[in-house]
Amino acid sequence: MKPLLLDSPWDDWELEGAPAYRVEQIRDWIFEKGILDWEEMSNLPRSLRDELAKIWDTIPMEQVRIQGSADTTQKFLWRLRDEQLIEGVLIPATTGTKGVRSSRLTLCVSTQVGCALGCKFCASGLDGLKRNLSTGEIIGQILLARKEAGRRIDNLVFMGMGEPLANLRSVRPALDQILSPKGLGIGARHITLSTSGLVPKILELAKYPAQVRLAISLHGGDNQTRERIMPINRTYPIEQLLEACERFIEERKKMITLEYILIEGINDDLAQAELLANHARRLNAKVNLIPYNQVEGLEWKRPELSQIRAFHKKVEEGNAPRVTLRMEKGHDIDAACGQLRLRESSVDAC
Ligand code: SAH
Ligand code: SF4
Repeated sequence: MKPLLLDSPWDDWELEGAPAYRVEQIRDWIFEKGILDWEEMSNLPRSLRDELAKIWDTIPMEQVRIQGSADTTQKFLWRLRDEQLIEGVLIPATTGTKGVRSSRLTLCVSTQVGCALGCKFCASGLDGLKRNLSTGEIIGQILLARKEAGRRIDNLVFMGMGEPLANLRSVRPALDQILSPKGLGIGARHITLSTSGLVPKILELAKYPAQVRLAISLHGGDNQTRERIMPINRTYPIEQLLEACERFIEERKKMITLEYILIEGINDDLAQAELLANHARRLNAKVNLIPYNQVEGLEWKRPELSQIRAFHKKVEEGNAPRVTLRMEKGHDIDAACGQLRLRESSVDAC
């Protein structure tokens, strides 16, 4: 397989001795115009295009399908060059009381094929980790989604398939290019990395120069509850995780978010709501409650609406600084991570 051009930062591109202005033209095609195919880079001489195409691949993945429509949540399934499948979700934000759509678009980005951490409720972790994504495959998702949307992407959340902090080797250089004004030009405060709680990596991320945001997948207020659904808690128990969060906050002076998916009979009792509120107060963290999105073949369920509301109320009463209840927009299109790929592979298997 040829090397992927997007795996190396554009300011390192030497491109077989092409003059700097040609390299700049190529950067412009890719990052400004979103054109990845050598054939379409019409201001490059044919001989240069042919020569570079022999050496470099520029297209990290092909689109297999899109679910949903442009004015709602859209889910992409992409096939990588080695046939592995990954997903991305594009979410438009709504504002105002009359449901008028604002112009903000958020892309949920994948960082691995599968995931090694095996959270029991998650479709991405079902078959373990296949491989890490490369830097170019991470950037490629944004370029392809942007092209499909026909407009800029405002926010990135690293909440697709995989554990971003287990692949910082690719994620960090991808972030460098995402942040760069000559790359994708998305500001750090519009980028959120979500982690299931890899303590040493949280501390490493705290030292990353750009102020990217951090979300912690907590999903349980104590070790017993967390451990039932998240094996990582055995390696990094909740107390260590909360301490790492404190260190991150101290370093960054930024609020973090505690993500909490609500699963019936597992973590939705009101005692857990109290614990969650305590942790949020201690960290001065936002809380994001997410009713579980059911995964085919798994036993877990979303609680009744009345229980979701009672849980929400209890966290608010516990004086958590800011609590939101996010009713999953993509519920009807398998928008939780890993689900579309799961469906596609079962289709393939038929
Ligand atoms: N590995 C990282 C980021 C990817 S998962 C992490 O775990 O944080 C992104 C978020 O989706 C996590 O909070 C995860 O717990 C949540 N999630 C996974 N499966 C889900 C499901 N079926 N319904 C709702 N949220 C889910
Ligand atoms: Fe991996 Fe995150 Fe899914 Fe857990 S929730 S298996 S860490 S992708």
